[in-house]
Amino acid sequence: MSTWVLGITGGIGSGKSTVARRFAELGIHRVDADQAARWVVEPGRPALQRIVERFGTHLLQDNGQLDRAALRQLIFADPPQRQWLEQLLHPLIAAEISQALAKAQSPYAILESPLLVESGQLRMTQRLLVVDSPEALQIERTMQRDGAAREQVQAIMAAQAAREERLRHAHEVICNDRDLSWLDQQVRQLHAFYLNLRGGQT
Ligand code: ADP
Repeated sequence: MSTWVLGITGGIGSGKSTVARRFAELGIHRVDADQAARWVVEPGRPALQRIVERFGTHLLQDNGQLDRAALRQLIFADPPQRQWLEQLLHPLIAAEISQALAKAQSPYAILESPLLVESGQLRMTQRLLVVDSPEALQIERTMQRDGAAREQVQAIMAAQAAREERLRHAHEVICNDRDLSWLDQQVRQLHAFYLNLRGGQT
C-alpha cells in the first residue's frame, strides 16, 4: 500500500488536535509532532544530556525529566541559544516522526504539528490541511482549554507563523468557526476526498 502523508496545522486553539482526532477515529494513522518533540528529550536520550551540559542541571526536575517550561523561558529572548537548541532537536524530531509515520497501515497518514510550516516538517508531507479560526475564537478556546491568560495566548500566537504564511501552503482549509458537529462533517467530507487521491495528488 502506498501511504501518503497529510500535514495538519493551524495556530494555537484553531482546532487542529480536534480535527486530527476525528481523522484518527476514522482509522487514519496519526502522528503528533509535539509528542515526538517530547520523546527526543526523555531521560536516557542523548539530547537531554547535551542540553544539561550546555544550560545546567537546574533544567532537570526531581524525577530526571527536562523542565520544558524553564528551557523555553531560557531561550525565549536569546536567539543564538534558541538556534543551538533547534539545530540539536530538529533532526532528532524529524527522525522520530519519520519512524512513526512509517508504521502507518491506513490509506494515508496524518502529521499534526503547530509548527509544520516553520520547522521544515512540511517536507515530510504530500498535502497540507490548515485549520483556521478567527483570532478571537482561537484566544477564547485556548483560554478555556488551558485556563491560560489572554496575554499568554497572544504571546504564543505572536511566536507562531503568520496565518497568511500557513494559508499560502494549504491545499485545503477548514474555517473552524462553527460547532463541533459541523466540524465533524467537514472532516468526513475531506476524508472521503482523500481516500480517492493517489500519493496525495488530485
Ligand atoms: P489546537 O490543537 O489547534 O490548539 P484544539 O483542537 O485543542 O486546538 O481546540 C481548542 C479548544 O477548542 C478545545 O478545547 C476544543 O475542544 C475546542 N474546539 C475546537 N473546535 C471547536 C468548535 N468548532 N466548537 C467548539 N469548540 C471547539
